[in-house]
Amino acid sequence: MTSYRCEACRTTYPTDRVGLDAVRRQHRRDFHGGGTPDEYVLEDGPRPVSARRVIAILALLVAVSLVTKACGALGL
Ligand SMILES: [Zn+2]
Repeated sequence: MTSYRCEACRTTYPTDRVGLDAVRRQHRRDFHGGGTPDEYVLEDGPRPVSARRVIAILALLVAVSLVTKACGALGL
Protein backbone atom coordinates (compact mmCIF):
# COMPACT_ATOMS: atom_id res chain seq x y z
CA MET A 1 0.00 0.00 0.00
CA THR A 2 1.23 3.43 -0.90
CA SER A 3 0.99 6.30 1.51
CA TYR A 4 1.76 9.98 1.44
CA ARG A 5 3.76 11.31 4.37
CA CYS A 6 4.05 14.99 5.08
CA GLU A 7 7.29 15.52 6.99
CA ALA A 8 6.22 19.04 7.98
CA CYS A 9 3.14 17.73 9.83
CA ARG A 10 4.59 14.29 10.52
CA THR A 11 1.34 12.81 9.27
CA THR A 12 0.82 9.85 6.95
CA TYR A 13 -2.17 9.45 4.65
CA PRO A 14 -2.99 6.05 3.18
CA THR A 15 -3.60 6.16 -0.55
CA ASP A 16 -2.73 4.22 -3.67
CA ARG A 17 -0.29 5.00 -6.48
CA VAL A 18 -3.00 6.60 -8.59
CA GLY A 19 -4.22 8.89 -5.82
CA LEU A 20 -0.81 9.84 -4.45
CA ASP A 21 -0.47 13.14 -6.32
CA ALA A 22 -4.07 14.14 -5.55
CA VAL A 23 -3.69 13.41 -1.83
CA ARG A 24 -0.39 15.31 -1.70
CA ARG A 25 -1.82 18.26 -3.62
CA GLN A 26 -4.97 18.41 -1.46
CA HIS A 27 -2.98 18.18 1.78
CA ARG A 28 -0.62 20.94 0.74
CA ARG A 29 -3.53 23.12 -0.35
CA ASP A 30 -5.56 22.51 2.84
CA PHE A 31 -2.78 22.65 5.41
CA HIS A 32 0.06 24.59 3.83
CA GLY A 33 -1.70 27.11 1.60
CA GLY A 34 -0.60 25.23 -1.52
CA GLY A 35 3.07 25.57 -0.59
CA THR A 36 5.66 22.92 -1.25
CA PRO A 37 8.24 21.87 1.36
CA ASP A 38 11.83 22.79 0.44
CA GLU A 39 12.98 19.22 0.02
CA TYR A 40 10.38 18.64 -2.70
CA VAL A 41 11.11 21.80 -4.66
CA LEU A 42 14.56 20.55 -5.59
CA GLU A 43 13.24 17.08 -6.33
CA ASP A 44 10.85 18.19 -9.04
CA GLY A 45 13.19 20.22 -11.20
CA PRO A 46 16.84 20.39 -12.06
CA ARG A 47 19.02 21.74 -9.30
CA PRO A 48 20.19 25.27 -9.86
CA VAL A 49 23.94 25.49 -10.35
CA SER A 50 25.58 27.52 -7.63
CA ALA A 51 27.95 30.38 -8.46
CA ARG A 52 30.66 28.58 -6.49
CA ARG A 53 30.35 25.51 -8.72
CA VAL A 54 30.49 27.63 -11.90
CA ILE A 55 33.66 29.34 -10.63
CA ALA A 56 35.20 25.96 -9.74
CA ILE A 57 34.47 24.59 -13.22
CA LEU A 58 35.91 27.72 -14.89
CA ALA A 59 39.03 27.50 -12.70
CA LEU A 60 39.44 23.85 -13.69
CA LEU A 61 39.12 24.72 -17.39
CA VAL A 62 41.70 27.52 -17.04
CA ALA A 63 44.08 25.15 -15.23
CA VAL A 64 43.71 22.48 -17.94
CA SER A 65 44.25 25.12 -20.62
CA LEU A 66 47.42 26.40 -18.93
CA VAL A 67 48.81 22.88 -18.51
CA THR A 68 48.06 22.12 -22.17
CA LYS A 69 49.78 25.32 -23.32
CA ALA A 70 52.76 24.66 -21.06
CA CYS A 71 53.11 21.15 -22.44
CA GLY A 72 52.89 22.53 -25.99
CA ALA A 73 55.55 25.18 -25.27
CA LEU A 74 57.87 22.55 -23.81
CA GLY A 75 57.30 20.26 -26.78
CA LEU A 76 55.78 17.46 -24.74
ZN1 LIG B 1 1.67 18.79 6.06
